[in-house]
Amino acid sequence: MNTIVAPATAQGRSAIAVIRLSGPESLTVAAKIVEGGLRPAPRKASLKTIINRDGEVLDRALVTYFNGPDSFTGEDVVEISCHGSPIVLRQILDRVLELGVRLAEAGEFTLRALANQKLNLSQAEAIRDLIDARSSVAAKQAVRQLGGELSGRLAPLKERLLEIIVLLESALEFVEDDLPATDAAQVAQDLSSMMSDLDQLAETFSLGHLLTDGIKVAIIGPPNVGKSSLFNSLLGIDRAIVTNIPGTTRDSISEQISFAGVPVSLIDTAGVRDAGDAIEIIGIERTRQAVADADLALVVLDGSITLSENDWRVVDQLDSTPAVIAINKQDLCSFMNPFGNAYDGKTVVQVSALTGSGLAELRTAILQPFNSATTDSAGLLITNARHYDLLRRAVAELGSSLQCLHEEASEELVLVGLHNALRNLGEITGETTAEDILNRIFATFCIGK
Ligand code: GDP
Repeated sequence: MNTIVAPATAQGRSAIAVIRLSGPESLTVAAKIVEGGLRPAPRKASLKTIINRDGEVLDRALVTYFNGPDSFTGEDVVEISCHGSPIVLRQILDRVLELGVRLAEAGEFTLRALANQKLNLSQAEAIRDLIDARSSVAAKQAVRQLGGELSGRLAPLKERLLEIIVLLESALEFVEDDLPATDAAQVAQDLSSMMSDLDQLAETFSLGHLLTDGIKVAIIGPPNVGKSSLFNSLLGIDRAIVTNIPGTTRDSISEQISFAGVPVSLIDTAGVRDAGDAIEIIGIERTRQAVADADLALVVLDGSITLSENDWRVVDQLDSTPAVIAINKQDLCSFMNPFGNAYDGKTVVQVSALTGSGLAELRTAILQPFNSATTDSAGLLITNARHYDLLRRAVAELGSSLQCLHEEASEELVLVGLHNALRNLGEITGETTAEDILNRIFATFCIGK
């Protein structure tokens, strides 16, 4: 295993930047770049003068040595906390590279930690998700996963599955002893309870993915009702162009924000336009498309004028997508709300994009359908599509084994699905993950992690 190096902090100027080395040569190399050599006590930072090949001073930095296996990667690690100047960083890195160390690839430190069993794959992914988290709720879920909650939840299921496999394998070994009927009934019962456990866990992805992807909110409604204005006031910036010419927002614009620590993707769609039947149909179609792709439709209507037939159509064409209706222009004296607090099961909020009144209520109403995912009391959620897919596959495999069991098929056939399910579950924590899949996962990490 060769020694690798990478900056562990973000690019750009900062007070401090950290360069991390990992591998057998870490200490020897670090000793060569500090004045007077390095005889460090593990885990104790010491202030050192960093020098180049000619002994010229590059920086003064805190150097910390973590001896393997008691380090993040499980190997000898040295961290150099230098000043956060891109020039200094470059010079120190170049010096280290000169000494035969290789630049780390994306996620390589974590990959080594995985190889040395310092963490499992779902924990490694949690580190990436934590770094990438765009909201406090997403960060919280990543921290839970990092603590091993997902692997902890799967461990007893895998254990029981393994016991069943052993039972069936031994029945195979001794051909004359068919699996006793009582055992078969117990196995069937265990399999279906496992399936429902895994199913329940997989189901949480429908909410969990919102934490990583953000809740997609499509702002829809007729022209000139104030969609772009509302988009801007929810964002707090002048992102969309606002005019009083109907249909200014030709293409949809989207922005990421966070409501109460939850990531939200606001999408301002081109409105339903009124200029002739053909275009109107395109408008309606486009709106329908936007709603189909969204997690929630925010229908904006103008409360200062009487609702037209078209307005009612926009509201009535919403099918199963959760929706919130915002009646805008509350500040005008002609304002009227024909709906009250709710219409057809959808929350109705009175707002003014101009004055900002009602916006807090609107934010709450938008998050409300997702509360079970976004509040602190939410249970463990599957936030990762890979885990979701593997859980689904494990359930399907167990289902086929159960089917074989009911049909009194041979143990051999029952075992196929059980082995596959165990492999699927193992892949979540990385016990049975093929190298090419590992490489693909770690390619999504940043360099230095
Ligand atoms: P869109 O076509 O639905 O995106 O509507 P715009 O956001 O472009 O707004 C259309 C017009 O309504 C503009 O002249 C806005 O200034 C005005 N407008 C938007 N929201 C309000 C509001 O809450 N109160 C008042 N009085 N005017 C608003």
